[in-house]
Amino acid sequence: MAPDHDPRFPAEGRPVDDLITALRGGRGDDADWRRGRTFSLVYNAADTELERLHEAVAAEYLQENYLNPFAFPSLLHMEREVVAMAADLLYGNPRGGKLTSGGTESLFLTVQVARDHAREVRGIAEPRVVLPATAHPAFAKACHYLDVDEIRVPVGGDGRADVAATAALVDARTALVVGSAPCYPFGVVDPIPELAALAAEHDALCHVDACLGGWLLPFLERLGEALPPWDFRVEGVTSLSADVHKYGWCFKGASLLFHRDEDELRRQYFLFDGWPGGLYGSATTAGTRPAAPIAAAWATVMHLGLDGYLRIAEQVRAVAHRFRDGIEGIEGIHVTGDPVPGVLEIAADTDPETGDAVLDIGAVGDVMDDRGWHLDRQQGGLHAILSPSHMAVAAEFLADLATAVGGHGESRGVEARYGGVG
Ligand SMILES: *Cc1c(COP(=O)(O)O)cnc(C)c1O
Repeated sequence: MAPDHDPRFPAEGRPVDDLITALRGGRGDDADWRRGRTFSLVYNAADTELERLHEAVAAEYLQENYLNPFAFPSLLHMEREVVAMAADLLYGNPRGGKLTSGGTESLFLTVQVARDHAREVRGIAEPRVVLPATAHPAFAKACHYLDVDEIRVPVGGDGRADVAATAALVDARTALVVGSAPCYPFGVVDPIPELAALAAEHDALCHVDACLGGWLLPFLERLGEALPPWDFRVEGVTSLSADVHKYGWCFKGASLLFHRDEDELRRQYFLFDGWPGGLYGSATTAGTRPAAPIAAAWATVMHLGLDGYLRIAEQVRAVAHRFRDGIEGIEGIHVTGDPVPGVLEIAADTDPETGDAVLDIGAVGDVMDDRGWHLDRQQGGLHAILSPSHMAVAAEFLADLATAVGGHGESRGVEARYGGVG
C-alpha cells in the first residue's frame, strides 16, 4: 500500500470501502507474480480452483489462534493429518513432525534442538554446525541468535557439498551437519548419504534442508526423474524440513520440521509455569499463531492429492526444461551445474584463456528488469525459481534474454535489488 504522507495517528477512522479502494490503488509497483514476471517469493501453481480454496480457508480461519491447540481441536486434527500425510511422502516419523511458520523457523528449531542435544547428551559446551557454503542464510541467522558457531565449507565445482572438505572440519564439537535438497542458489542436491554418514561417525545430528525440494522431489521421483537419495530413507538423516508454502502450493506461513526420533522433537517444546499466569507451553517458537496456514496446508494437500501434485510437478519439469534448453541455446550464458527441475542460476560463460566472464551478467539482469522481468541477483548470476505460471511467458522471456545478452551493456551494479531469498 502506498504510504500515507501524513504520519500522524488517524484522528478518525475511514470507511471500509474507502480503504479497500486505497489498498488496491496503492499496489501499482508490487511484483506482478500472476503474469509470471517474478521468479521467487510467490510459488504460483496457476490453479484457480486452488486459489478459490485458499480464499475460503483464509476467511474461515482468519481469527482463530493456534497458541492453544486444545481450544481448536479442528486445527490440531488438521496439523496431525498434514504431518502424517507428509511423513508418508518423506518416509518420516508421523510422531516426530510439527508445522512451523516457515523454513526459517524450521531451521531455527533444527539448530536449537541440535545445540541442546549436543549439550545434554554429549556434554559439548560450544557446539558447532558444519554446513556447505550454499546452505540457506536462515542457518546463519539461527546460529547467530542461538550463539552456536557456524562453519561454512566451500562447495565443489558442481555446486554440491564437498564431502572431503566437510570431513576435515567435522569433529568432536560438531552438533549438526547440514545438506540441502536442493540448495537455493544452484538447485543442486548435496551428497546426503555421505554427509549423514559423516555426522553419524561423530554422533552428531544431520539435517536435510528440503525447504525448497521437500514438496517437489517426491513427485519428480515418481515421474521417473533420476534423483540422488535425500530423504529419511537415507540412514543417519536425523531431521528434515520441507516448506508447504513453496512447492507444496500452500499460501504463506506453513513449513514442516520432522525429527526421526521423537526425543529430539521434545527438545523443541517449551513449558513454563514460573509466573502467576498458569502453565504456558508451545511446540514452536511463536506464541500466538495464525490458524489459516495450518488449515490451508491441510486443505491444499487434500485438494491436490498425489494426482494433483504429480500434474503440477510435470508442469514444473516441462517449464524447467524449456527454460534450461533456451538458456543453453544463447551464446555467452549457461545454467550453473546440473540443477533439479525448477531452480536454476543463469551465469556468464568464462573465457577459457583468462578465466574472466565473457559478459557482465549484472548488466543482463538490468536489461531484463527494464523489460519487466524480476530475476534475483546472486554473486555469480541471475536466479530463477520456476512455476507452472512461467510456461505461458517462456518464449517471451527467452527472446528478451537473448536480446539482453546480445547487447550486454554497462552494469548498474550487482547489488540485490530484490533482497528477498524465498
Ligand atoms: C526458502 C528456503 C528457506 C527459508 O524458508 P522461509 O520460508 O523463507 O523462511 C530455507 N532453506 C531453503 C533451501 C529455502 O529455499
